[in-house]
Amino acid sequence: MKYPFKLPQLPYSYDALEPYIDEQTMKIHHTKHHQGYVDKLNAALEGYPELQTKELEEIIHDLNSVPEAIRTAVRNHGGGHINHSFFWTIMSPEKSEPPPAFAKYEEEFTKAATGIFGSGWAWIVADAAGELSVVTTPNQDSPLVQNLKPILGLDVWEHAYYLKYQNRRAEYIEAWWNVVNWKEI
Ligand code: MN
Repeated sequence: MKYPFKLPQLPYSYDALEPYIDEQTMKIHHTKHHQGYVDKLNAALEGYPELQTKELEEIIHDLNSVPEAIRTAVRNHGGGHINHSFFWTIMSPEKSEPPPAFAKYEEEFTKAATGIFGSGWAWIVADAAGELSVVTTPNQDSPLVQNLKPILGLDVWEHAYYLKYQNRRAEYIEAWWNVVNWKEI
């Protein structure tokens, strides 16, 4: 993904993940929140032609080389764009089963996602050696910053579930397992 960044299309309709994730949440999440990250990321990079030719993954991976004036904006909105672009692809209305190698991470992942204080993401990541682990990141921080490759990720910002689940994050997480796209993962 390179500048100017664009909102990717969802690989399914807004109501496809019902009843687990409702249509209105998906619509607002995609067209308002994700679009907002895209717009603000583009605005941040507007005056930085040397960054416009780079892949976003590369920019995020090397945040310290981003000019300080826009580093926080790139971290938040670049992370938001990468994380959400990934998130849409690892969900599907088509029910699939986790490969045995992943089943053992489910409980740990659920616990981590439930326990995040405030806004953030839970992840299953692979390190450089291909070893899997469960980690969490605050805000829109991408695991790529720590040289970890996202394999599975869950958005636990309230905007991802509040309309349907209000404060019941644990119910949202339990429901979300039903739409995980294990084939893609
Ligand atoms: Mn989100």
